[in-house]
Amino acid sequence: MYEMGEAEIQAVARVIRKGQLFRYRGGEGGEVDQFETRYKEMLGASHFLTVTSGTAALISGLVGLGIGPGDEVIVPAYTFMATPLAVLNVGAIPVVAEVDESLLIDPNDVVKKISPRTKAIIPVHMQGLPCNMTALKQVAQQHGIAILEDACQAVGGSYQGKRLGSIGDAGAFSFNHFKNISCGEGGGLATSNRKIYERALIYHDCGSAFRLYASSLQEPVFAGGNFRLNEVLGAILNEQLKRLDNILSRLRERKKWLREALSGCPAYQFSPVHDEAGDCGCVLTLLFDSAESRKATEQTLKAAGHGVSSPIDFNQHVYIYWTPLLERRGAHHPALDAYRLPENRFSNYVLTKESCPRSLDILSRTLTLYIPIAQDKAWFENLGAAVQQACAVGV
Ligand SMILES: *Cc1c(COP(=O)(O)O)cnc(C)c1O
Repeated sequence: MYEMGEAEIQAVARVIRKGQLFRYRGGEGGEVDQFETRYKEMLGASHFLTVTSGTAALISGLVGLGIGPGDEVIVPAYTFMATPLAVLNVGAIPVVAEVDESLLIDPNDVVKKISPRTKAIIPVHMQGLPCNMTALKQVAQQHGIAILEDACQAVGGSYQGKRLGSIGDAGAFSFNHFKNISCGEGGGLATSNRKIYERALIYHDCGSAFRLYASSLQEPVFAGGNFRLNEVLGAILNEQLKRLDNILSRLRERKKWLREALSGCPAYQFSPVHDEAGDCGCVLTLLFDSAESRKATEQTLKAAGHGVSSPIDFNQHVYIYWTPLLERRGAHHPALDAYRLPENRFSNYVLTKESCPRSLDILSRTLTLYIPIAQDKAWFENLGAAVQQACAVGV
């Protein structure tokens, strides 16, 4: 959701005039510090660490959980490829589970994909839709495995009154250009577990050994990389956070208008939502009986100039397009490649294009309608009528 203006421009100018762009030189209360405090208060989490991207947040979360070679992590068949790539990045094997009609990871298939090596599940709240966290938490508890929520597309969303990203052991967020709030590129990791937080903190800051805060850590330092956010981006995020409630309420209002305008058509059903009040996405999805009827409707709408699509055609987000996984090249160097590590020799999981047929069927029967936040009620009524008309043509 790109909504920026004078407030962000002024905030950036303030940081530049101050002349301190590095987060650990401004002392307490710098822009990044303030954002972390506000964000964790919004979530009701004990810790929040900003990093340079959602991918960096996922990697830091896995590092925080102590996941590495010899471990498997279950991810959904429908997510941005960064989710399984983060798993490979720490030397573990991503195991891909089916999504159900909600377009989110199917807890029943998660159970089928659990092995003695499974250490975590990454439920992804795709399109701002909350996963079935009740069922997933039950599965995780029964099998003694962790939950790292991928809330990259779900900033501000909730499930049963709890913010997405604060329900599992840790939650990863993205603030890239396309997400609910943005600073161009950025991310963050939320957790209420001190150990996960400290390990992620150490990892994101080149091992932290030289940093003042290192003396107060209970975890021993280890080598890491640099995923630190800077004050310019922190300043933008502080302004963006002020806009979040307004963005979400306008999205939800528009989604309600579109739902009303789409109701009563026998050609499709609304994709089931686990908690409609907590939905924070900028799309509404419809489930058709067949891929053919979805395609026919889509073509009619496109011909009339409406911006619609199907998740099956969004190639970064469907597992059949994840080439590095399908071709089993998990790193830049063979000795670091999770698929070749001796610790992973017992992991017999192999991803092929045939691995998740149910996901492909559901995704190809789904039609995605976007919710442009600047449009008025008449616009959504018009879109709804156009969809209903397109379905009538298809019949
Ligand atoms: C955007 C996104 C990511 C990665 O976020 P970046 O900030 O682009 O690294 C991870 N998972 C999902 C589901 C995403 O949509």
